[in-house]
Amino acid sequence: MLIVLEPEISQENKNRILSILREGGCIFREISDAGQNIIGSTGNAGHPPEYYESLPGVARVVPVNTAFKLVSRQMHPEDTRVRVGDVSVGGERIVVIAGPCAVESRDQALAIAGQVRKYGAVLFRGGAFKPRTSPYAFQGLGEEGLRILAEVRETCGMPVVTEITTPAQADLVMKYVDVVQVGARNMQNFELLKCVGRLGKPVLLKRGLSATIEEWLMSAEYILSEGNDDVILCERGIRTFEPYTRNTLDLSSIPVIKNLTHLPVIIDPSHATGIREKVSPMARAAIAAGADGLMIEVHNDPDRALSDGAQSLYPQQFSRLMRDLYVIAPVVDKQLDFGYLDRVHAVEHMERPGGEGGGKAAFLGEIGTHSYKACTRYFGDHAEFIPAKTFKEIFEGVKEGFVDFGVIPLENSLAGSVHENYDLLLEYDLRIVGEIMLRIEHNLIGHPGAGAEDIQKVYSHPQAFQQCRQYIDRHDWELVPVSDTARAVRHIKERGEISEAAIAGREAAEIYGMEVIEEGIETNPRNYTRFVVIARHPLANGKKQKSSLIFSAGNQPGSLFEVLKVFADNGINLVKLESRPIHGKPWEYMFYVDLEADIEDLSFAPVLEQLSDKTDFLKVLGSY
Ligand code: PEP
Ligand code: MN
Repeated sequence: MLIVLEPEISQENKNRILSILREGGCIFREISDAGQNIIGSTGNAGHPPEYYESLPGVARVVPVNTAFKLVSRQMHPEDTRVRVGDVSVGGERIVVIAGPCAVESRDQALAIAGQVRKYGAVLFRGGAFKPRTSPYAFQGLGEEGLRILAEVRETCGMPVVTEITTPAQADLVMKYVDVVQVGARNMQNFELLKCVGRLGKPVLLKRGLSATIEEWLMSAEYILSEGNDDVILCERGIRTFEPYTRNTLDLSSIPVIKNLTHLPVIIDPSHATGIREKVSPMARAAIAAGADGLMIEVHNDPDRALSDGAQSLYPQQFSRLMRDLYVIAPVVDKQLDFGYLDRVHAVEHMERPGGEGGGKAAFLGEIGTHSYKACTRYFGDHAEFIPAKTFKEIFEGVKEGFVDFGVIPLENSLAGSVHENYDLLLEYDLRIVGEIMLRIEHNLIGHPGAGAEDIQKVYSHPQAFQQCRQYIDRHDWELVPVSDTARAVRHIKERGEISEAAIAGREAAEIYGMEVIEEGIETNPRNYTRFVVIARHPLANGKKQKSSLIFSAGNQPGSLFEVLKVFADNGINLVKLESRPIHGKPWEYMFYVDLEADIEDLSFAPVLEQLSDKTDFLKVLGSY
């Protein structure tokens, strides 16, 4: 049982609670959890929880029937997000920590950091104090290694993670690093756990070589009970009888952990398998199983690495893996975001009249729609989100400077392009500065306690009805179309009729305190929408991968071919080509293309010149 005290509780009231517990013969302890004062007690409390709740100075009582208390989901039902600089571990964004096993030299660390960051890692790892099986093996560079890590952070803009092996290193790691790692061999070094619990820095806690999940969570409990809630759990394989891999990766720990605790969990497939070829398959599986992130060893010259070379990926392998994860993540409603660090930096430092830090982003509909979700996924908590009634209003808002960004859907994998937005992109002189892809999942949402058999009337956007046709056809429901899915949920909430339901995303149910009756009711689960972000000016967020153009070609034989030949001759891959009628010119068309190149980079200037020669009209919508 946890007795959460009111912040202003008097010493007298507190003593009274303690003496009741003492007299009842309970084992108890005062703990502080993220600023809250809590008394944790085990054993027979002598009285029921309601009794303690009625005592003056008690805010609430949480009965927790597991050995771990503060880390338990009963104590804290929402997921904890551990914030490290601009990065948040435990949210929708998959966090990838990458780097060498050990920092070997300044050149080695900076070279690897540059590469992993380019491929989408957001935190850098590297050991300075290495716990090695053999006393004759490389033990790490010590403080020199920490200094190099700090330089990596300054140069590459990535927070850094390193292992602490004894409390004696506490001052040093405090000075240089952003996340302290407690290694597998130290998972039950209780003095070290207490020490990192008091450091006030996020802790990455590896699972011990032969620790049960409960023992692992009890170790996390040590850290939380010292007042530090920022713990990231890391499964790195356990010792079994199987010799083909270094350890056996316990992927089933992910759903178990997600159920038992609010703490984020990441997977280290490098130490789990010990073999380079096995790392990527396990990393992909980990993301599919719901891990919040990965920790991966990458080395630029693994054959000569001073530790764990055999399990370190080559940078190219890491790049390939990241591209695979990008594709897998939306299936589990997460995002891998290659440009996250650059974008956050660009948004935070954008020139904006009268405003500082973060921007305003407009989206269609209400809070809880898929467009809203695309906004929150793209900007995290670095922008304010402004609802708009029409797409045109979004374009106007960006043009006039009422908002800095607009987030608009451009195409759906089932329904095709959103033509209105294609036309607006032509009409307005705005720029595409980014894109984000979401998996669209529909759910039947109703009042708490309602079942599908109670429902008679269902509200949603017509497109959602369309996409759930098979499911709807199995029921005899009245369908009521409304302007967006979140509004449908709000509507049924306001009407308060148990026989009414809505079809919408899970977020809308959470926002309005309604319940998902049935999830994933869309006919085709491969339902993705691609959103783009528009702005007045390009975003200074580093290297761009893609560009979008609009052009028209002359009305004579071969004119389209001539334009496409420019792309072919210059080795530029087109990922989309679509035509739209030109208003007022029947049977003449504008072509919309997406290509895999940063067409505005100076090196492409000759290509743009060739394109202008071959087209009647050419507009670059943006590179991102
Ligand atoms: C490491 O991350 O380099 C390491 C030593 O890991 P583990 O403690 O999981 O063996
Ligand atoms: Mn290692």
